[in-house]
Amino acid sequence: MPCRVCDSERLELALDLGQQPWCNHFLKPEEAGAEPRYPLRLVYCHDCATPQLDHTVAKEVMFGDHTYLSGVTRTLSDHFREVAREVDQRFGHLGRTILDIGSNDGTTLRHFQDLSWDVLGVESSRSVARRAVEQGIPTVNEFFALPMARALGRRFDVIHASGVFFHLEELHPVTEAIREVLRPDGVFVVEFLYMKTIVENLAFDQIYHEHLLYYNLANLRHLLRRHGLDLFDARFSPIHGGSIIGFAGHAGAHSPSERLQALQAAEDAAGANRFQTYLDFAGRVEKAREENLAFLRQRRAEGKTIFGMGAPVKGNTLLNYFGVGPDLIQVLVEKNPMRRGLLAPGSHIPVVMEGDVTSPPDVYYVLAWNFKKEILKNHQDLLEQGVEFYFPVNPKEDNA
Ligand SMILES: [Zn+2]
Repeated sequence: MPCRVCDSERLELALDLGQQPWCNHFLKPEEAGAEPRYPLRLVYCHDCATPQLDHTVAKEVMFGDHTYLSGVTRTLSDHFREVAREVDQRFGHLGRTILDIGSNDGTTLRHFQDLSWDVLGVESSRSVARRAVEQGIPTVNEFFALPMARALGRRFDVIHASGVFFHLEELHPVTEAIREVLRPDGVFVVEFLYMKTIVENLAFDQIYHEHLLYYNLANLRHLLRRHGLDLFDARFSPIHGGSIIGFAGHAGAHSPSERLQALQAAEDAAGANRFQTYLDFAGRVEKAREENLAFLRQRRAEGKTIFGMGAPVKGNTLLNYFGVGPDLIQVLVEKNPMRRGLLAPGSHIPVVMEGDVTSPPDVYYVLAWNFKKEILKNHQDLLEQGVEFYFPVNPKEDNA
């Protein structure tokens, strides 16, 4: 496989997380053991510095009818409101038409509608797109691509894409299509998980089959420039444990901000685009596995019960890479009722509802470790009862 961004053949293995099932599909008991597994390997491109997966699970398997709703998460909705206000203030004078790629249930576009923008969404999931339309958000139920973009027959002042840019298997046609429907002075707002922060925080559980590509500013700009676009501004946001909100336009249409240049300099100074950084990352991940297994085995040998706190999708990467099963962690305690009675893919640890836990375990193993502060604050009562909280990964305090 050549590099997904620059077509180079100079790819080298950085991190091998083994054979893993698709982490988004929690299993009915009768499905356990039959779930397909796919290689989960991160390779690094020596030419454009893009970390990426070398195996692609078909997008129809992953996104044909996903059930993730961005409107459900309060924090996320607040975040998109803030982005909408920022875009409105800074770029509203250009004109107020917006296209949202991967528009989900229309959460982002609703905030733009509130600010009197003319909105259009593109969403591949049928049930999610229908939900958006029912709520008054015009939405096209398709995968965003060049022919459908041209068929829209119009251009937009602003194009927004959040958390979809690294999902895309057909990266180049999509980037091409963005350029095609962006007005000459228009702004492409692209939000993505920041790989520099993932590496610094050892957030290797953000690596899963849906995330084919991982971005720093350097390789994102490489991609955009191939298609006549470029970043002219960017800022760090703590959302999703560390993201970048980038502002791009047609190459040369806007002058680069000092803020962008400072972020890029910090990225280079941290070695975020060097292969050696990824090799070190892999070494730290391996060490975390040894420490975690030693801890879990020791507590079990002491006769203690261990429950997982939360059953986040990303937790499955961690459990499966560590090789943890119900012998070490008895159940995963979760709030999302859609996962009631199901088993975590690969590890086959049963999911139970928070309200059904009558007495706490000796140890809570916190899969949503990125919410450490909040979790410790909310569970003061359990801490006082002597319940031990174990965090599989301990991120750096300062993510900026
Ligand atoms: Zn490359």
